[in-house]
Amino acid sequence: MERRRFGSTKREIAVIGQGTWDVEKNQGGAIAATAALRRGLDLGMTHIDTAEMYGGGAAEEIVGEAIAGRRDEVFLVSKVLPQHASRQGTLAACDRSLVRLNTDRLDCYLLHWRGAEPLEDTIAAFEQLKNEGKILSWGVSNFDEVDLAEAWSIADSLVCNQVLYHLEERAIEHAVLPWCIQHDVAVVAYSPFGHGHFPGPRTTGGRVLQEIAAAHNATPRQVALRYLTRRPPLFAIPKASSVKHIAENAGIAALSVHGRTRECGFVGAVGRYRRCGKAGSTATG
Ligand code: NAP
Repeated sequence: MERRRFGSTKREIAVIGQGTWDVEKNQGGAIAATAALRRGLDLGMTHIDTAEMYGGGAAEEIVGEAIAGRRDEVFLVSKVLPQHASRQGTLAACDRSLVRLNTDRLDCYLLHWRGAEPLEDTIAAFEQLKNEGKILSWGVSNFDEVDLAEAWSIADSLVCNQVLYHLEERAIEHAVLPWCIQHDVAVVAYSPFGHGHFPGPRTTGGRVLQEIAAAHNATPRQVALRYLTRRPPLFAIPKASSVKHIAENAGIAALSVHGRTRECGFVGAVGRYRRCGKAGSTATG
Protein backbone atom coordinates (compact mmCIF):
# COMPACT_ATOMS: atom_id res chain seq x y z
CA MET A 1 0.00 0.00 0.00
CA GLU A 2 1.33 3.41 -0.99
CA ARG A 3 2.04 5.73 1.92
CA ARG A 4 2.54 9.46 2.08
CA ARG A 5 3.26 12.03 4.74
CA PHE A 6 0.14 13.03 6.65
CA GLY A 7 0.07 16.82 6.60
CA SER A 8 2.81 18.37 8.67
CA THR A 9 3.20 15.27 10.83
CA LYS A 10 6.33 13.25 10.17
CA ARG A 11 4.18 10.13 9.71
CA GLU A 12 3.92 8.21 6.45
CA ILE A 13 0.33 6.99 6.28
CA ALA A 14 -1.43 4.58 3.90
CA VAL A 15 -3.26 6.53 1.19
CA ILE A 16 -6.28 4.22 1.52
CA GLY A 17 -7.68 3.70 4.99
CA GLN A 18 -10.86 2.28 6.48
CA GLY A 19 -14.04 4.12 7.44
CA THR A 20 -16.30 2.83 10.21
CA TRP A 21 -19.59 4.70 9.94
CA ASP A 22 -22.36 2.07 10.49
CA VAL A 23 -19.74 -0.66 10.98
CA GLU A 24 -21.79 -1.93 13.94
CA LYS A 25 -24.60 -2.76 11.49
CA ASN A 26 -22.43 -5.32 9.69
CA GLN A 27 -24.65 -8.30 8.87
CA GLY A 28 -22.23 -10.66 10.55
CA GLY A 29 -22.26 -8.58 13.75
CA ALA A 30 -19.32 -7.24 15.68
CA ILE A 31 -17.20 -10.34 15.10
CA ALA A 32 -17.45 -10.03 11.31
CA ALA A 33 -16.87 -6.27 11.48
CA THR A 34 -13.75 -6.80 13.57
CA ALA A 35 -12.48 -9.50 11.21
CA ALA A 36 -13.00 -7.24 8.18
CA LEU A 37 -11.09 -4.36 9.78
CA ARG A 38 -8.27 -6.72 10.74
CA ARG A 39 -8.08 -8.03 7.18
CA GLY A 40 -7.79 -4.43 6.05
CA LEU A 41 -4.87 -3.95 8.44
CA ASP A 42 -3.22 -7.09 7.03
CA LEU A 43 -3.52 -5.55 3.56
CA GLY A 44 -1.94 -2.26 4.63
CA MET A 45 -5.05 -0.11 5.17
CA THR A 46 -3.78 0.97 8.55
CA HIS A 47 -5.47 4.38 8.71
CA ILE A 48 -8.71 3.76 10.64
CA ASP A 49 -11.30 6.50 10.87
CA THR A 50 -13.99 6.47 13.53
CA ALA A 51 -16.02 8.91 15.64
CA GLU A 52 -17.84 9.09 18.94
CA MET A 53 -20.99 9.64 16.86
CA TYR A 54 -20.86 6.33 14.97
CA GLY A 55 -23.34 3.96 16.56
CA GLY A 56 -23.25 6.10 19.71
CA GLY A 57 -19.76 4.73 20.49
CA ALA A 58 -20.38 1.19 19.19
CA ALA A 59 -18.08 1.72 16.20
CA GLU A 60 -15.23 2.83 18.46
CA GLU A 61 -15.69 -0.33 20.53
CA ILE A 62 -15.46 -2.50 17.41
CA VAL A 63 -12.33 -0.62 16.33
CA GLY A 64 -10.91 -1.20 19.82
CA GLU A 65 -11.39 -4.94 19.33
CA ALA A 66 -9.93 -4.85 15.82
CA ILE A 67 -6.74 -3.07 16.83
CA ALA A 68 -6.15 -5.03 20.05
CA GLY A 69 -2.56 -6.22 20.03
CA ARG A 70 -1.83 -4.22 16.85
CA ARG A 71 -2.08 -0.64 18.12
CA ASP A 72 1.35 0.41 16.85
CA GLU A 73 0.48 -0.57 13.25
CA VAL A 74 -2.51 1.76 13.18
CA PHE A 75 -3.01 5.44 12.45
CA LEU A 76 -6.10 5.91 14.60
CA VAL A 77 -8.44 8.86 14.04
CA SER A 78 -11.57 9.76 15.96
CA LYS A 79 -13.81 12.81 16.11
CA VAL A 80 -15.52 14.92 18.72
CA LEU A 81 -19.10 16.02 18.07
CA PRO A 82 -19.56 19.80 17.79
CA GLN A 83 -21.98 19.82 20.72
CA HIS A 84 -19.24 18.32 22.93
CA ALA A 85 -16.52 20.62 21.61
CA SER A 86 -16.25 23.10 24.48
CA ARG A 87 -12.86 23.03 26.21
CA GLN A 88 -13.94 20.69 29.03
CA GLY A 89 -16.36 18.81 26.77
CA THR A 90 -13.61 17.97 24.29
CA LEU A 91 -11.31 16.69 27.04
CA ALA A 92 -14.09 14.49 28.43
CA ALA A 93 -15.15 13.22 24.97
CA CYS A 94 -11.57 12.24 24.19
CA ASP A 95 -11.30 10.28 27.45
CA ARG A 96 -14.50 8.40 26.62
CA SER A 97 -13.24 7.58 23.12
CA LEU A 98 -9.92 6.32 24.50
CA VAL A 99 -11.78 3.97 26.86
CA ARG A 100 -14.00 2.60 24.05
CA LEU A 101 -11.01 2.23 21.75
CA ASN A 102 -9.01 0.60 24.56
CA THR A 103 -5.96 2.70 23.81
CA ASP A 104 -3.94 5.43 25.48
CA ARG A 105 -3.75 7.73 22.44
CA LEU A 106 -5.27 8.84 19.17
CA ASP A 107 -3.00 9.57 16.25
CA CYS A 108 -5.30 12.37 15.16
CA TYR A 109 -8.41 13.89 16.76
CA LEU A 110 -10.86 15.87 14.65
CA LEU A 111 -13.70 18.30 15.22
CA HIS A 112 -16.47 16.47 13.28
CA TRP A 113 -17.96 19.66 11.89
CA ARG A 114 -18.14 23.24 13.01
CA GLY A 115 -20.82 23.98 15.58
CA ALA A 116 -21.66 26.66 18.11
CA GLU A 117 -18.68 26.20 20.49
CA PRO A 118 -15.88 28.75 19.93
CA LEU A 119 -13.07 27.28 17.85
CA GLU A 120 -10.56 28.77 20.30
CA ASP A 121 -11.92 26.51 23.06
CA THR A 122 -11.87 23.34 20.99
CA ILE A 123 -8.36 24.05 19.78
CA ALA A 124 -7.17 24.85 23.31
CA ALA A 125 -8.48 21.43 24.36
CA PHE A 126 -6.76 19.75 21.40
CA GLU A 127 -3.45 21.40 22.37
CA GLN A 128 -3.89 20.32 25.99
CA LEU A 129 -4.62 16.73 24.89
CA LYS A 130 -1.50 16.84 22.74
CA ASN A 131 0.61 18.03 25.68
CA GLU A 132 -0.82 15.21 27.79
CA GLY A 133 0.05 12.63 25.09
CA LYS A 134 -3.59 11.59 24.62
CA ILE A 135 -3.56 12.72 20.99
CA LEU A 136 -0.55 13.06 18.70
CA SER A 137 -2.12 15.56 16.31
CA TRP A 138 -5.44 17.25 15.62
CA GLY A 139 -7.51 18.44 12.71
CA VAL A 140 -10.98 19.34 11.49
CA SER A 141 -13.68 17.95 9.24
CA ASN A 142 -16.16 19.55 6.86
CA PHE A 143 -14.32 22.89 7.03
CA ASP A 144 -14.42 25.26 4.07
CA GLU A 145 -11.49 27.56 3.27
CA VAL A 146 -12.87 30.37 5.46
CA ASP A 147 -13.20 28.11 8.51
CA LEU A 148 -9.75 26.66 7.78
CA ALA A 149 -8.18 30.12 7.72
CA GLU A 150 -9.84 30.97 11.03
CA ALA A 151 -8.62 27.75 12.67
CA TRP A 152 -5.13 28.36 11.26
CA SER A 153 -5.06 31.86 12.72
CA ILE A 154 -5.68 30.31 16.16
CA ALA A 155 -3.08 27.54 15.81
CA ASP A 156 -1.08 26.48 12.78
CA SER A 157 -0.67 22.94 14.14
CA LEU A 158 -3.82 21.79 12.29
CA VAL A 159 -2.78 18.72 10.24
CA CYS A 160 -5.93 17.46 8.50
CA ASN A 161 -9.28 18.36 6.99
CA GLN A 162 -11.59 15.40 6.38
CA VAL A 163 -14.11 16.23 3.66
CA LEU A 164 -16.74 14.84 1.31
CA TYR A 165 -14.96 13.91 -1.91
CA HIS A 166 -16.03 11.43 -4.56
CA LEU A 167 -16.36 11.35 -8.33
CA GLU A 168 -19.74 13.08 -8.25
CA GLU A 169 -18.84 15.65 -5.58
CA ARG A 170 -15.60 17.48 -6.27
CA ALA A 171 -16.39 20.90 -4.79
CA ILE A 172 -13.27 20.80 -2.59
CA GLU A 173 -11.09 21.13 -5.70
CA HIS A 174 -11.99 24.82 -6.09
CA ALA A 175 -10.70 26.30 -2.83
CA VAL A 176 -10.39 23.77 0.00
CA LEU A 177 -7.83 21.51 -1.69
CA PRO A 178 -5.63 24.42 -2.89
CA TRP A 179 -5.73 25.92 0.62
CA CYS A 180 -4.70 22.59 2.14
CA ILE A 181 -1.90 22.09 -0.39
CA GLN A 182 -0.57 25.57 0.39
CA HIS A 183 -0.66 24.97 4.15
CA ASP A 184 0.57 21.36 4.10
CA VAL A 185 -2.69 20.02 5.53
CA ALA A 186 -3.76 16.44 4.74
CA VAL A 187 -7.07 16.13 2.87
CA VAL A 188 -8.94 12.94 3.72
CA ALA A 189 -11.74 12.03 1.31
CA TYR A 190 -14.75 10.63 3.11
CA SER A 191 -17.58 8.77 1.36
CA PRO A 192 -15.22 8.12 -1.59
CA PHE A 193 -17.87 5.79 -3.09
CA GLY A 194 -20.65 8.34 -2.60
CA HIS A 195 -21.92 6.59 0.54
CA GLY A 196 -23.25 3.68 -1.51
CA HIS A 197 -24.11 5.66 -4.68
CA PHE A 198 -21.29 4.62 -6.95
CA PRO A 199 -21.77 5.08 -10.74
CA GLY A 200 -23.35 1.83 -11.95
CA PRO A 201 -22.26 -0.10 -15.06
CA ARG A 202 -25.30 1.13 -17.03
CA THR A 203 -24.49 4.80 -16.57
CA THR A 204 -22.18 6.73 -18.88
CA GLY A 205 -19.79 7.43 -16.02
CA GLY A 206 -19.85 3.80 -14.96
CA ARG A 207 -18.96 2.70 -18.49
CA VAL A 208 -16.02 5.13 -18.62
CA LEU A 209 -14.75 3.74 -15.32
CA GLN A 210 -15.22 0.19 -16.57
CA GLU A 211 -13.20 0.87 -19.72
CA ILE A 212 -10.31 2.45 -17.84
CA ALA A 213 -10.43 -0.30 -15.25
CA ALA A 214 -10.32 -3.01 -17.90
CA ALA A 215 -7.28 -1.38 -19.52
CA HIS A 216 -5.48 -1.59 -16.18
CA ASN A 217 -6.71 -4.98 -15.08
CA ALA A 218 -8.46 -3.23 -12.22
CA THR A 219 -12.00 -2.51 -11.05
CA PRO A 220 -14.01 0.75 -11.38
CA ARG A 221 -13.81 1.33 -7.62
CA GLN A 222 -10.05 0.92 -7.69
CA VAL A 223 -9.85 3.48 -10.49
CA ALA A 224 -12.01 5.86 -8.45
CA LEU A 225 -9.83 5.46 -5.33
CA ARG A 226 -6.69 5.97 -7.41
CA TYR A 227 -8.12 9.16 -8.85
CA LEU A 228 -9.20 10.50 -5.46
CA THR A 229 -5.71 9.94 -4.06
CA ARG A 230 -3.85 10.94 -7.24
CA ARG A 231 -1.55 13.43 -5.52
CA PRO A 232 -0.43 14.56 -2.07
CA PRO A 233 -2.01 15.58 0.28
CA LEU A 234 -4.99 13.35 -0.63
CA PHE A 235 -6.06 10.23 1.29
CA ALA A 236 -9.31 8.23 1.17
CA ILE A 237 -11.20 6.19 3.77
CA PRO A 238 -13.75 3.89 2.11
CA LYS A 239 -15.93 1.84 4.43
CA ALA A 240 -16.35 -1.84 3.58
CA SER A 241 -18.03 -4.61 5.56
CA SER A 242 -16.88 -7.69 3.71
CA VAL A 243 -13.42 -9.14 3.29
CA LYS A 244 -14.07 -9.22 -0.49
CA HIS A 245 -14.70 -5.47 -0.61
CA ILE A 246 -11.74 -4.81 1.70
CA ALA A 247 -9.43 -6.76 -0.61
CA GLU A 248 -10.69 -4.89 -3.67
CA ASN A 249 -10.14 -1.51 -2.03
CA ALA A 250 -6.64 -2.45 -0.86
CA GLY A 251 -5.91 -3.64 -4.41
CA ILE A 252 -5.35 -0.11 -5.69
CA ALA A 253 -1.76 -0.64 -4.62
CA ALA A 254 -1.13 -2.30 -7.98
CA LEU A 255 -2.78 0.44 -10.04
CA SER A 256 -1.09 3.48 -11.51
CA VAL A 257 -3.44 6.03 -13.05
CA HIS A 258 -1.39 8.95 -11.87
CA GLY A 259 -1.13 12.69 -12.29
CA ARG A 260 -2.41 14.58 -15.30
CA THR A 261 -2.90 11.71 -17.69
CA ARG A 262 -5.73 11.71 -20.24
CA GLU A 263 -7.36 8.90 -18.31
CA CYS A 264 -7.35 11.02 -15.17
CA GLY A 265 -9.32 13.63 -17.10
CA PHE A 266 -11.89 11.02 -18.09
CA VAL A 267 -12.27 9.76 -14.52
CA GLY A 268 -12.63 13.34 -13.30
CA ALA A 269 -15.47 13.85 -15.78
CA VAL A 270 -17.53 10.96 -14.41
CA GLY A 271 -19.56 13.19 -12.10
CA ARG A 272 -20.52 15.50 -14.96
CA TYR A 273 -22.31 12.69 -16.77
CA ARG A 274 -24.40 12.02 -13.70
CA ARG A 275 -25.15 15.67 -13.02
CA CYS A 276 -26.88 15.80 -16.40
CA GLY A 277 -29.41 13.46 -14.78
CA LYS A 278 -29.95 12.90 -11.07
CA ALA A 279 -27.93 14.88 -8.53
CA GLY A 280 -25.15 13.08 -6.64
CA SER A 281 -25.61 12.16 -3.00
CA THR A 282 -24.15 13.91 -0.02
CA ALA A 283 -23.86 12.47 3.45
CA THR A 284 -22.65 13.58 6.82
CA GLY A 285 -21.53 10.82 9.09
P1 NAP B 1 -18.36 5.03 1.23
O1 NAP B 1 -17.05 4.54 1.74
O2 NAP B 1 -18.38 6.05 0.15
O3 NAP B 1 -19.27 3.83 0.76
C1 NAP B 1 -19.53 2.75 1.59
C2 NAP B 1 -20.38 1.78 0.78
O4 NAP B 1 -19.58 1.27 -0.29
C3 NAP B 1 -20.84 0.60 1.60
O5 NAP B 1 -22.17 0.32 1.20
C4 NAP B 1 -19.91 -0.52 1.17
O6 NAP B 1 -20.53 -1.76 1.18
C5 NAP B 1 -19.63 -0.14 -0.26
N1 NAP B 1 -18.33 -0.67 -0.69
C6 NAP B 1 -17.11 -0.45 -0.14
N2 NAP B 1 -16.17 -1.09 -0.84
C7 NAP B 1 -16.80 -1.71 -1.86
C8 NAP B 1 -16.37 -2.53 -2.93
N3 NAP B 1 -15.07 -2.79 -3.09
N4 NAP B 1 -17.29 -3.01 -3.78
C9 NAP B 1 -18.62 -2.73 -3.64
N5 NAP B 1 -19.09 -1.95 -2.64
C10 NAP B 1 -18.19 -1.44 -1.76
O7 NAP B 1 -19.25 5.61 2.42
P2 NAP B 1 -19.09 6.20 3.86
O8 NAP B 1 -19.13 5.13 4.86
O9 NAP B 1 -20.05 7.33 3.93
O10 NAP B 1 -17.64 6.91 3.90
C11 NAP B 1 -16.47 6.26 4.32
C12 NAP B 1 -16.06 6.71 5.72
O11 NAP B 1 -15.82 8.11 5.78
C13 NAP B 1 -17.14 6.51 6.81
O12 NAP B 1 -17.30 5.14 7.15
C14 NAP B 1 -16.61 7.39 7.89
O13 NAP B 1 -15.54 6.75 8.59
C15 NAP B 1 -16.11 8.60 7.09
N6 NAP B 1 -17.12 9.68 6.98
C16 NAP B 1 -16.85 10.87 7.60
C17 NAP B 1 -17.78 11.90 7.53
C18 NAP B 1 -17.49 13.21 8.21
O14 NAP B 1 -18.42 14.04 8.34
N7 NAP B 1 -16.26 13.44 8.62
C19 NAP B 1 -18.98 11.75 6.79
C20 NAP B 1 -19.21 10.52 6.16
C21 NAP B 1 -18.26 9.51 6.24
P3 NAP B 1 -20.24 -2.87 2.30
O15 NAP B 1 -20.34 -2.16 3.62
O16 NAP B 1 -21.28 -3.89 2.05
O17 NAP B 1 -18.84 -3.40 2.06
